[in-house]
Amino acid sequence: IDFNKASFKDFENIPGSDALATAAEFQQYLNFLKEQGHLNYRIESRSPVGPEMDLILPEKSGTIRAVCLVSNDYLGFSQHPLIKQAVMDGIRDYGTGSGASPAIGGHFFYHELLEGKIAGFYGKTDAILYTTGYTANSATLQCLLHQQDLAIVDMAVHASVYEGCLKTNTKQFLHNNLDHLEQILAASRETYRTRFVIVDGVYSQDGDIAFLDRIAELTHRYGAYLVVDDAHGIGVVGETGRGVIEMFGLFDQVDIITGTFSKALGNIGGYVIARPELVNYLKYQSKQHLFSTTATPAILGIVKAIELIDEEPVWQDRLWENITYLKDGLTAMGFDVGTTASAVIPVKIGHIPKTLEAGKLLLEAGVYTNPIMYPAVSRKNARIRMNVMATHTRAHLDRVLNAFADVDRRVKITKP
Ligand code: PMP
Repeated sequence: IDFNKASFKDFENIPGSDALATAAEFQQYLNFLKEQGHLNYRIESRSPVGPEMDLILPEKSGTIRAVCLVSNDYLGFSQHPLIKQAVMDGIRDYGTGSGASPAIGGHFFYHELLEGKIAGFYGKTDAILYTTGYTANSATLQCLLHQQDLAIVDMAVHASVYEGCLKTNTKQFLHNNLDHLEQILAASRETYRTRFVIVDGVYSQDGDIAFLDRIAELTHRYGAYLVVDDAHGIGVVGETGRGVIEMFGLFDQVDIITGTFSKALGNIGGYVIARPELVNYLKYQSKQHLFSTTATPAILGIVKAIELIDEEPVWQDRLWENITYLKDGLTAMGFDVGTTASAVIPVKIGHIPKTLEAGKLLLEAGVYTNPIMYPAVSRKNARIRMNVMATHTRAHLDRVLNAFADVDRRVKITKP
């Protein structure tokens, strides 16, 4: 393997090597990346999640304080005093663990409360909790779709959706391409028992939004069901933070809503909202729910977070002021931010080594971003990805813009 051209994916299965030999080769690749200063996974922080964080950089022999643009804690709720208090009250009164899976005694009132709260947030009655958003997608799809079924997925959906489709038939349509979706819907009509069209509300790498109104119309016209993962939409988009489904007014058009408590809600866990009998089916048939220990009483903080989306809309307002400021600033400087309409802002570069170098220089300038490349995006679509937070100040964002101007002089990202 040529380390200069390699990606993590190339080490998943090396022909002729057993699992341990593969790991040894991968270790050499990690050492190579580290020597180049390009190993940007698992950077350790010791401060709370926030608009600035302390990062441990052993190669710099110490800690740096950087503006943080890597957190999905969009509203700053992981640090909100009322939410922290609700978590502490939960732990004080009910302890640190729930003791069992829901099938055998690990189901408590706080799980019921949260299921009702998140369903009610979307005007629905029924929801089921999973340990993460990843599991919510993978477990639900795995439970519902079998050999006789078809998953029709936007090619840019999250990895957890792909994992959920491993045991069924899958067809990808080009990202947000309605003609391609319609072709697949029309051609697959008679062949399958159940067909799910599966999209993200907000896409995690480009920050753009599914054309959900037209997708819903097509899906139902062709007799399929619609599944929307709005992990990055909740709390961020929609007039009252109810995500992409609110933006398009489609509360009655989406058959299955999935999402996570780990982003704007500042905690951890996943959920699925659907008609009551479908949620019940999952509660009794989905192995990852039935046989995995339920969430801790700390989820009482999520109940408070959901209330605060309505009670303190100021966080969503501040988030949008920041998104607009950063996006407009980067665009005015000539950077390509694509079609983002959310708190995920990419600066598209294309070339992988340039992207890695830009990420490294930004970090040296105290600006912590995520360089994203294959296989998370296609080989020619490398970019620096940023997540804006409500708690960033103008001074933070100006530091980011200045750092980008400097990096552009050195790495040449914008077109002359
Ligand atoms: N869906 C999307 C679109 C995501 O970006 C993520 C977050 N990585 C997930 C699902 C998974 O959520 P979680 O981090 O809670 O497992």
